[in-house]
Amino acid sequence: MKLVIIGAVAAGTSAAAKARRNDETAEITIYEKDTDISYSGCGMPYYLGGLIRRREDLSPRNPAYFRDKYNVDIRTGHEVLALHPDRKTLTVRNLTTGQVFDDAYDTLILATGARAVMPPVPGLALPHVFPLRTLGDMNRIDAFIKSHNPNQAVILGTGFIGLECCESLSGLGMQVTLVEKLPQVTPGLDADMARLVGDHLREKGIPVHLDNGVARVEAAHVVLSDESSLPADLVIVATGIRPNVALAEAAGIRLGPTGAIAVDERLQTSLPHILACGDCIEQTHLVTGKPVYRPLGSTANKTGRIAGDVATGGSLTFHGILGTGIFRLFDRTVAQTGLSEREAVAAGYDVVVSHNIKPDRPEYMGGREMTIKSVADRATGRLLGVQIVGEAGVDKRIDVFATAITFGARAEDLFHLDLAYAPPFSTTKDPVHYTGMILENALHRNRPLLSADALAQMIESGQPYTLIDARVEKQYEAGHIPTAHSVPQDRLRQAAETLDPDVPVVTYCNKGVTGNAAQNILLGKGIRTVFNLSGGYRMYTVRKRQDHGTV
Ligand code: FAD
Ligand code: NAD
Repeated sequence: MKLVIIGAVAAGTSAAAKARRNDETAEITIYEKDTDISYSGCGMPYYLGGLIRRREDLSPRNPAYFRDKYNVDIRTGHEVLALHPDRKTLTVRNLTTGQVFDDAYDTLILATGARAVMPPVPGLALPHVFPLRTLGDMNRIDAFIKSHNPNQAVILGTGFIGLECCESLSGLGMQVTLVEKLPQVTPGLDADMARLVGDHLREKGIPVHLDNGVARVEAAHVVLSDESSLPADLVIVATGIRPNVALAEAAGIRLGPTGAIAVDERLQTSLPHILACGDCIEQTHLVTGKPVYRPLGSTANKTGRIAGDVATGGSLTFHGILGTGIFRLFDRTVAQTGLSEREAVAAGYDVVVSHNIKPDRPEYMGGREMTIKSVADRATGRLLGVQIVGEAGVDKRIDVFATAITFGARAEDLFHLDLAYAPPFSTTKDPVHYTGMILENALHRNRPLLSADALAQMIESGQPYTLIDARVEKQYEAGHIPTAHSVPQDRLRQAAETLDPDVPVVTYCNKGVTGNAAQNILLGKGIRTVFNLSGGYRMYTVRKRQDHGTV
């Protein structure tokens, strides 16, 4: 059995290692056009920021390691030029000698990954402008920083790479400015959660230009679409990636609607004897069952292993993804899994959404807050997705939610999870439990929630409503929603007698708990529709602070 793999980073080398574990006799060759293999792209922002001191720690394995440990022949500096599926051969160029030759395979695995997207604007070839996709890119940025000592960095794009690099370059003492073509940072999050990220950037003194593309890059400036000019002696282009599919497409392999290679659960492409894995394939979303393109190292390693197993007669299958992702930004962790509210609505779900602000452990143990936004399906109660922005404990919660969604949990199931508790680790009722309780109340106990955005729309629409600030007067006086009446919870029972039961009421407090207590009182007093402001005054003020334009 001759297995040929194209690409030797995360997916390709995982496939080779698994294939060898399954089959000692297979002949395994990997062609890689680059010189670096099996490296941790995910660690590159931290190397640039000085957190990882030794470059070798990111790429501890070389071709000799794979030859000795796995009997796998990795040929770096070899680019595959064409596939010939009818003959089961491929054409390869040795980039050092220029020699072009054909090789044969019984099974072929495409692990060709993805490449950085460079916007079509003048100036991106200037020597101080870099993408960050490969180890070579990282080395070039590192060398430039060391030789030019830049002070002003502009980063184009506020996705994962843009924000991770923002933290790293700021840590080196550079003044970083972010430019984002969308009206929000962090494209995967809903706008309300993205505002929490924007708030933190502001706290850290990072200017962000939203809703603004780049027009051109000049020697010492980046000029934006609105012709404003930002000083820049280093520019990082982090404007997304595209799958490398040219080889596959030219060979007649079917691409999916996302533009990445379409595969089935055995990672078979549309042509026999050709599998694909990693950042070049699209995945099936576990909630919608629809194809999506969520290129991540976690998935590249998993799909590589599965492809190596399938190629050697194994029975593994790929179940799909939730797009679970996480990154750190200074003192915040930002994470998401499953569908955002925007995606869920676009997919046709009637959603119930909650915002829940809770510490990761008791305050007496130094608990730090996180804001959890959760999205559930009104019809079935199924949890569809979660986003979290917080100071601590976010990683643990997002993985609990990802597990729950994977197994089809309904919102009310969350409360019943038997989660570990002791004061150093969590609260007696964990933030995950609270999320379930709030969603269950909204779904099944007539305790509807209203988001800050929906409240703003209600106010603007001119429809009749009563807005009740249920906090103590001192808090109301320190700041409140303009049309709100101050009725602290202890005076609410009496005040309820004066309310028209047919006019909808919205209650709020700081984070939602007292707002919910006020909601209970008013519903008990016969008011027909009472909403609690989701995430309370806190989510409302985040909304107020940021208009489109500049954070
Ligand atoms: P790639 O890494 O793109 O490798 C594909 C290889 O195929 C390339 O080396 C390419 O040269 C080779 N190739 C392509 N065409 C040919 C050809 N014709 N002939 C020969 N060789 C070819 N993911 C996470 O889950 N968490 C993180 O924290 C995270 N952080 C990241 C940080 C950065 C800065 C970057 C850039 C990525 C990060 N990722 C992260 C994503 C993760 O690194 C990728 O998902 C992963 O590297 C994909 O692996 P891959 O093997 O599929 O593709
Ligand atoms: P991304 O898709 O996450 O973000 C790209 C951002 O650039 C978007 O916000 C987009 O609106 C913006 N943009 C696009 N064109 C622009 C323009 N002309 N001007 C200004 N902004 C523009 O992509 P990325 O940050 O480049 O990361 C690439 C991939 O690497 C991601 O898809 C992710 O899967 C992976 N990654 C993951 C992690 C992690 O999991 N922690 C970390 C780094 C990278």
